[in-house]
Amino acid sequence: MNVLVINCGSSSLKFQLIASDTEAVLAKGICERIGIGGDLVYQPEGGEKTKMQKPMPTHLEAIQYVVEALMDAEHGVIQSLDEIKAVGHRVVHGGEQFTSSVLITDEVKKAVAACNDLAPLHNPANLIGIEACEKLMPGVPMVGVFDTAFHQTMPKHAYMYGLPLELYTKYKVRRYGFHGTSHSFVSKRVAELLEKPYEEVKTIVCHLGNGASVCAVKHGVSVDTSMGLTPLEGLVMGTRSGDVDPAILDFMAHKEGMSIEDVMNLLNKESGVYGLSGKVSSDFRDLWDAADAGDTGAKTALDVFCYRVAKYIGSYVAAMNGVDAIAFTAGVGENDIPVRAIVCEYLGYLGITIDAAENNYKSRESMISTKDSTTKVFVVPTDEELAIARETMEIIV
Ligand code: ADP
Repeated sequence: MNVLVINCGSSSLKFQLIASDTEAVLAKGICERIGIGGDLVYQPEGGEKTKMQKPMPTHLEAIQYVVEALMDAEHGVIQSLDEIKAVGHRVVHGGEQFTSSVLITDEVKKAVAACNDLAPLHNPANLIGIEACEKLMPGVPMVGVFDTAFHQTMPKHAYMYGLPLELYTKYKVRRYGFHGTSHSFVSKRVAELLEKPYEEVKTIVCHLGNGASVCAVKHGVSVDTSMGLTPLEGLVMGTRSGDVDPAILDFMAHKEGMSIEDVMNLLNKESGVYGLSGKVSSDFRDLWDAADAGDTGAKTALDVFCYRVAKYIGSYVAAMNGVDAIAFTAGVGENDIPVRAIVCEYLGYLGITIDAAENNYKSRESMISTKDSTTKVFVVPTDEELAIARETMEIIV
């Protein structure tokens, strides 16, 4: 049985075809510049990447080319569409409606559309992807896997903002959290590595990529996470500010004559380590190169980033009244050796000492704390596509 995993952005579409029995990735790729051109990158298992330019006025054509590539006589990995048993779609915002993955029906699509205001850049694109797949693969079950669903177990005291209650009752303004598929996948793996039941472990997962969030997973459920109504809250990210004093918005608007759109653009696209470094880069490799060459802005950006992660970890130790393990994942968490070391330097009070030799690897699952550390620290590479494929299989069988 093969599961096609689809992750649609407004002008892009990432895909993986995963064999559900072996969990092998049979083929993967990405369509970009949908609506303004069309580029398809396709790579079969063990094969070379092929790049093609194809006209993709909408996501429908993009998926059509993906399907053609999957069945291509030379590079294809399946002979007919019958070999795709289900499609798993990443959906960014499921609001309060979705607490787990679901089989997509017309009702589900309406409920996803009802969350469009909460994720205007993502949810409409996710729905377009779902409808394009329905057209091309009629009768194939489609499953929605939500970034927010894992965090629906957060207690009310963690998800409510200190704002007038009507904002919640009228518009559902509250904290939702994102990266749920990754936090769930990584925290389950940590329990396996600890050789303890998932329901008995307290883990803090640091998903540090371009977008970044921390999650407190207590006894198998998310009890708090750093992103909020939108993915702007929490950690300092690649270009997103994370937590700021909300009064800064008004201050900037007045000082710089900015509209609310300008202010939001600044917080989402011009801030984070990119903004803090004086626009050196949002990529941590460039920041380290610049910092090593004496750039003080880049150094400050890295310091602020690590401090914020350590501060969130501390607050989640308090929220869970303890912690058994901390895990680093995603682009920065899996690859940035000094970031992991600096964050862990703040955590001596948890009985953590880093094993420098074990920490000296990239993209490799390992325990990076010493054996006698009382709280364990792991690097666990995340695999959101595999997690979506597993969820999809669970729903359809
Ligand atoms: P997203 O999925 O949010 O776009 P990723 O999880 O793919 O992000 O992370 C991408 C980021 O990871 C890059 O912007 C870069 O900062 C960081 N990164 C990737 N490789 C390395 C590396 N070898 N060393 C340090 N940072 C890295």
